[in-house]
Amino acid sequence: MTEFWPRWTATAAMAALLLASPAARAAEPQIELWDGQRAMTVIADLLRFTPRAMGEPGHQQTIDYIKAAMAKSAADAVLTQSFTAKGDDGKAIPLTNIIARFQVQNPRRVIVATHYDSIIKAYRDAKSPDAPMPGANNSASAVALLLETARVLSLSPKLDIGIDMIFFDGEEGPKSLGAGDPTWHALGSPHFAANLKDYYPSRKPEKAVDFDMVCDKDLKLQPEPSSVASALPEVKKFWSLGSRIAPLAFSPELTSYPISDDHTALQQAGIPSFLVIDFDYEPYFNTTQDTIEQCSAQSLETVGRTLLRYLYTP
Ligand SMILES: [Zn+2]
Repeated sequence: MTEFWPRWTATAAMAALLLASPAARAAEPQIELWDGQRAMTVIADLLRFTPRAMGEPGHQQTIDYIKAAMAKSAADAVLTQSFTAKGDDGKAIPLTNIIARFQVQNPRRVIVATHYDSIIKAYRDAKSPDAPMPGANNSASAVALLLETARVLSLSPKLDIGIDMIFFDGEEGPKSLGAGDPTWHALGSPHFAANLKDYYPSRKPEKAVDFDMVCDKDLKLQPEPSSVASALPEVKKFWSLGSRIAPLAFSPELTSYPISDDHTALQQAGIPSFLVIDFDYEPYFNTTQDTIEQCSAQSLETVGRTLLRYLYTP
């Protein structure tokens, strides 16, 4: 594994932040408002809807839950993008991306994304591969991350950039099996990327950050190569800010392989985009053990508070 930027870079960035003018500091949010226990409650709520895979009753319950939470936030508009994709068997799969727009009149936009669909069954479980996959980390954790961030944004100073929070559908692919399907491909984010003009008629978003699997007790976030290729300055910024909050959770070592997720389609649409994921989730990944017991309020807080700092740091 390679370290992708020298350690002094983080120190220089830190010094620059400390020297920021009082005016710049005035726009800072109170990151302490970001509450890991609240995020844990959201995960517990979402687990009641499991399986949250396409076509299941829990899928619609998840959509309703996210829309209701966002309606209470400072988002100006909570939109749904409904469409159908063709399944491997030729059947139409109905999909819904949810887009919550903050400061919708601001032409400068940043996307903060995750997926909300979950794996249909615990295919990696040695004992019960057909049992439901709870999906506390994959994917309730990042939905909780965005909802708690939306709550805190509603209590925070106005940003100089408009945020679009996007909850993508169909990230786990046409069979809702994610990496358990050899022909896996995400469905929701490519559709959104192909129809960018519907939301950004004159100017593309400046950047996008995508979250997945962010509640692991043993949180270790490593940049992945496609993110570094697409959005190096943003990756550096996020990891530098995160290292100030929880040094051990932010590793400068790249993952040894690129990871495909919803940021991939956004990258291909020409938006500098990066993924924040703790992909080392053994032995629980996509098993019946992906439960709330593996999650930590502290880990959620680390990522959520870093996201707030990231959004408020020019
Ligand atoms: Zn995921």
